[in-house]
Amino acid sequence: MSIYIRRKPANIDLGQTYLLYEEVLPAIPTAFSLPSGWELFVVNQDRGRCYHEKKHITVPAWTFTKPEERGPNYPLYYLSHEISHIYQRIVETANALAGKKQEAPHGPIFYKYFRQICPPELQHYELTYRPQNARTAGISEPDNLPSIEDFGL
Ligand SMILES: [Zn+2]
Repeated sequence: MSIYIRRKPANIDLGQTYLLYEEVLPAIPTAFSLPSGWELFVVNQDRGRCYHEKKHITVPAWTFTKPEERGPNYPLYYLSHEISHIYQRIVETANALAGKKQEAPHGPIFYKYFRQICPPELQHYELTYRPQNARTAGISEPDNLPSIEDFGL
């Protein structure tokens, strides 16, 4: 028998982790809520990740900073991206058992979930991370059409 110890990530920001659970996670559609056993952490690291074996998702603390530069709700976009990897892996595991070919981590299966998990108005952030893959998946820049307020009406 082997026991797998889930060591917590390094450099956890507890305050931001609290915000991630309380203010960001509730915005994820309930159909794609965090499966049981998974834990979220905000970390002082350059990048976040979805750790399938540990069932950990890390979101970097910088995603919470400079919303005026990065745009609103960036942590929600980031969390949506990482949660999409959970569902992608579930499908890929089933496909592997069925002898089907595996696809790249940011391929059509990933984006099928991402398009449903990430709020539509935040999906364009993916263009700054994976421009080619995101465009192939049909994600485009926001069209920035003028609103009625722009005409002073
Ligand atoms: Zn990814």
